[in-house]
Amino acid sequence: MGGPIRAQRGARGTSKMASTGGAASTASTGGSMAQGGRQAIIVGSGFGGLSTAIRLLSDGWQVTILEARPEIGGRASRIQEGGYTFDTGPSLITMPWLFEEVYAAAGEKMSDHVTLRQLQPGYRIFWTGEDRHFDFGSDREQLLAEMRKFSNDDANQLEAFLAASGAIHREGILVSGRQNFLNLKDFVKLLPTMARLDAIRFLQGWVGKFFKEPHVQQAFGFHSLFIGGDPSRVPAIYSALAYLQIADGIWYTEGGVYSIIESFGKIIAKMGGVIHTNSKVDQILHRNGRATGVRTADGEVHNADLVIYNGDVTARDALLPDAPDAFPWRLRPLRTTMSAHMLYLGTNKKFEKLLHHTLVVGDDYYGFIKDVTRERRMPRSNAVYIHAPSRTEPEMAPPGGDSIAILLPVPNLRSGDDWTEAEPRMRDRTLEWLENWGLPGLRDSIVVERSWTPLTFRDELLAPDGNAFAVEPSLEQSAYFRQPNRDRTIAGLYYVGGGTHPGAGMPGALLTSQVTQDLIRGDYPAPFTSRATGPTGNLVRP
Ligand SMILES: Cc1cc2nc3c(=O)[nH]c(=O)nc-3n(C[C@H](O)[C@H](O)[C@H](O)COP(=O)(O)OP(=O)(O)OC[C@H]3O[C@@H](n4cnc5c(N)ncnc54)[C@H](O)[C@@H]3O)c2cc1C
Repeated sequence: MGGPIRAQRGARGTSKMASTGGAASTASTGGSMAQGGRQAIIVGSGFGGLSTAIRLLSDGWQVTILEARPEIGGRASRIQEGGYTFDTGPSLITMPWLFEEVYAAAGEKMSDHVTLRQLQPGYRIFWTGEDRHFDFGSDREQLLAEMRKFSNDDANQLEAFLAASGAIHREGILVSGRQNFLNLKDFVKLLPTMARLDAIRFLQGWVGKFFKEPHVQQAFGFHSLFIGGDPSRVPAIYSALAYLQIADGIWYTEGGVYSIIESFGKIIAKMGGVIHTNSKVDQILHRNGRATGVRTADGEVHNADLVIYNGDVTARDALLPDAPDAFPWRLRPLRTTMSAHMLYLGTNKKFEKLLHHTLVVGDDYYGFIKDVTRERRMPRSNAVYIHAPSRTEPEMAPPGGDSIAILLPVPNLRSGDDWTEAEPRMRDRTLEWLENWGLPGLRDSIVVERSWTPLTFRDELLAPDGNAFAVEPSLEQSAYFRQPNRDRTIAGLYYVGGGTHPGAGMPGALLTSQVTQDLIRGDYPAPFTSRATGPTGNLVRP
């Protein structure tokens, strides 16, 4: 895996490399206005950027991706060391058909590139000081049995919960997740439906309508945290995330999520796209109100017919200092999500207490969330998500060992914490707590150790607040009120990725590429022959 891939002809007819590994960053040629085809520049190679590249290549655009980091993938990066493999960010796959759609746009089949495996259960939730655990997954009988461990009454409410969250999923996610919200009236049109489904109230209260037992409430109400959303502040639209995991399952790709990123890189190269890594864009260029290209940190100018920005949307104005977004809501800047302290540990022993995905929740769960989100202060208690993929795929760690990624939500850098000082302290605190909970000998077993902190998210992923996800998925930052998929000031400038509509998470980022592709198709009626196998969104599942 990894290594450079030879791309086909580049934008100026020069042969270039598309890199999926650090060593193969390209010497960029600059000034690359396309000859014989329209040129799109994509800034950033997260799931949003890569999937947009594939979609636009299939529509006949010539595509160049400029990525600041040495490798593609953004938050979905990979660390490999000493025989241990870690996905740096996303690890839990839902809505696999959205990935299939991207492969289909290239005329490819997902199964020819990656092997998907369904996890059953999806994950186990432990609470410290509580003997019972909760296995969450798509096996309905098993799920009911887990609920009955805590409350028969709540178990009897499962079908009602699924009916209500399923309706929200269909009307709130499948429909509105695929359309743009450039106009306020489109957002207003959606409100009666959402009000009818009671999806506008806060998620935590909504879940409380169905379930009364605190552990069950937490098990069904925490999923918005996966995309940085505080359950007491996000709309109940995000109940669809729990629904999806039950209705559709939780999936794993062999080799980890990065195997999808790698295959997207290969497909882009095969389709003639060009990827420059180590190419940070400092400025989006425009003339007469229209985007004309970008300037990279080393001063090179890449001309283009359109620019698609996949970096953090809160950095938008810094890249366009002379064309600020005039939207009045910018008076109150978009609020960014919490961050994460990630520990990637290669151990020389297996910790059988861990499933593939495990959550361990300490004291005062609600206080913990409040600390890292609303209060923006270092959490006084603990709650972690742990990824141990060698449980499913032994090759992710050497024999007898485990590759363990631990995610501790922490406030983003607006808290003012100094992470050069905080990192060793928080590392020891988390590991000691986990040892006491049920992983004895964890620290002594570590043979490989890496970490990401809010500073990594700021300095490497270029998220100004060191935020782990994007902007908070609250109602006042959703749809029309989120960063639009097309710029409000500059023509020919578009946005994809977690900070724009419909939102964060791998499925959300993939949907942004479809919404943006549809906008571009409308804005640039094509003299192109599409190589797509059909219209976007053609693989709609029931
Ligand atoms: C720890 C963690 C765990 C997660 N777990 C899950 C999960 O289990 N399931 C799930 O579905 N989602 C999960 N997510 C969310 C998911 O990873 C993201 O929503 C998604 O990957 C974001 O994709 P994106 O398109 O927004 O791009 P990003 O991944 O944000 O990548 C953007 C890229 O743009 C580049 N860039 C930015 N600015 C510039 C510039 N000026 N010039 C050049 N390049 C630039 C950056 O270097 C970066 O590579 C997780 C996220 C994190 C952080």
